Formats: sequence, C-alpha cells, structure tokens
Amino acid sequence: MRVANVAGRCNIVLDGLAYDVERASGGRFGADPQAAFERWDELNGWASGVEWASAPPIEPRALELGDLGAPAPRPRQVFAIGLNYRQHAAEANLPLPDYPVVFTKFPSCIAGPFSELPLPSGNVDWEVEMVAVMGREARQISEGRAWDHVAGIAVGQDISERVVQGRPPQPQFSMGKSFPYFGPFGPDIVTIDEVPDPDDVELRCTVNGELVQHASTSDLIFSVPEIIAYLSSIATLYPGDVIFTGTPSGVGAARKPAWFLRAGDVVASELVGISRIEQRCTASDRTDHQDASALIS
Ligand code: ZN
Repeated sequence: MRVANVAGRCNIVLDGLAYDVERASGGRFGADPQAAFERWDELNGWASGVEWASAPPIEPRALELGDLGAPAPRPRQVFAIGLNYRQHAAEANLPLPDYPVVFTKFPSCIAGPFSELPLPSGNVDWEVEMVAVMGREARQISEGRAWDHVAGIAVGQDISERVVQGRPPQPQFSMGKSFPYFGPFGPDIVTIDEVPDPDDVELRCTVNGELVQHASTSDLIFSVPEIIAYLSSIATLYPGDVIFTGTPSGVGAARKPAWFLRAGDVVASELVGISRIEQRCTASDRTDHQDASALIS
C-alpha cells in the first residue's frame, strides 16, 4: 500500500491514480494524513479488502506530483540519526559510534516531496536518507518486533546548514537542520510488504544530475530495527513519528573542495525503485559560502 498526502488529504495511491480515503471509505476514515497513522492497522486492513483496480469505490484522480505534501505533515516527534554509515563516519573523520547518535529536526522543517528549498545564509548541504514513519506506539520494542511498528518508508533529505551545526563551543545538530523546508520527504508512505528487503534498500542522491551519494541501507551501522529498539528503550514513539535513519558518504562538506548548494540547484533523492523526491533551491540573501566546517552528521 502507498499512502500519500494529496493537497492536504489522505489518499491511497495505485498506478499513478489517487483515491481519497475519506470519500472511498464513506467517512470511516478522516481526511487528515497525520491522523491516518493513529489507525494505521485498521486503515491497512480496510484498504487491502478494496478492489481498487476492478471495483473502485470512487473515481480516482490522476496523481499530480505538485499536489503532494509531506506524507506525515505534523509528526509529534522527528528523530534523526547521525554518523550511521561506515563510509560517512570515515569521511567525517569520526570513529564508529557505540550507540546511535540521535538528534531532532524540529517538526516545523517538514516539507513536501517536491518542495522548494530556500537557502539561508551559510553552507547548505544535502543528506539523502531512508525515512521510517511509525504506525504503532512503541515503548521498549525489541529489534525483532521493530518493523511491525513501522507504517512504511519514504525517501527524505536531512538538509543541513553546516555553519550553525558546527558553532562552538558545543556543536549541536538540531538547529542547523531545522530551517524551513529542511526536512522534505515522501513522495508517499510505502508499506514494508511492498519492499523486497527493507534492510537492503539502495539510496541515491544527485545534484543537478551528478551522482553525489550512492549506498545501501545494508551498510547502516545501526539498522532500522536497532534504531527503533534503542529509541524506544528511552523515549515513547508515537504513530506518525518520523525517523531520518542517517546519510551515507558523499555529502558536500566532506568534499575537496567543499561543495554547498546554490540557488537554482536541483537535488533529487531516491530509494531506487521505490521512492523519489526532488528539491529546487531558491535564492538566499547571500550566495557566498563560509569556510567549510568539518562537522558532519
Ligand atoms: Zn542526516
């Protein structure tokens, strides 16, 4: 099942067609895409019993990519994991972590899958990531049960402004990663049964068509089940919470010379064969970049 936010309404997406969930279900489910996660299992059960292609309950609409919003537009919590790919830790000159490096992207940075990306001053960088959205409340969940608590996956960008991120005396990830539009993801939520192997998903990121990141989630230091087990050993995860699971090597700050985004650049991110999003950078009040910080997450 694929579930999307189409112009602010929850839709089931199938073969390029979008079916409004509230209308198709006769009002059993509401229109709010965020509320869908609160009754995810029930929604799944209902949707799997509908003959969408042969006997659709309503006329679908052709999916317009420009109508898509973030599939979980108002998560209560957004978790993000730093330094979670071996080669990325190496390019950051940092040792492999013993525990997941956890920070937040404040929910106001969440953006849709084909959003603009207004560049603030500083050094704005890309980080393609697999995103997992929770479908059940999770508290002290074992690795073996973790995927059962995930509504589905999407591709996201943990857009990062490296100057704020690296400000002394104590570098902190959350602020430099929470400017408006710094958390685009989507284009929809793909349930795990649609993914051949959720622990081996190929990620790609291009900037203006040039391949800058390419890896598999099988290279994660902490897998999604390990991340969920760790997070839920401390915090309670709620349905609709969003987890950015970490970025592989190839970010701009680690390049020689460093490479940061400029107005007009197009950042395309994908889980190959599953999900694709695209951001176009728009003008900032300055285009010069400050000295590159070595700090990456
Ligand atoms: Zn990241």
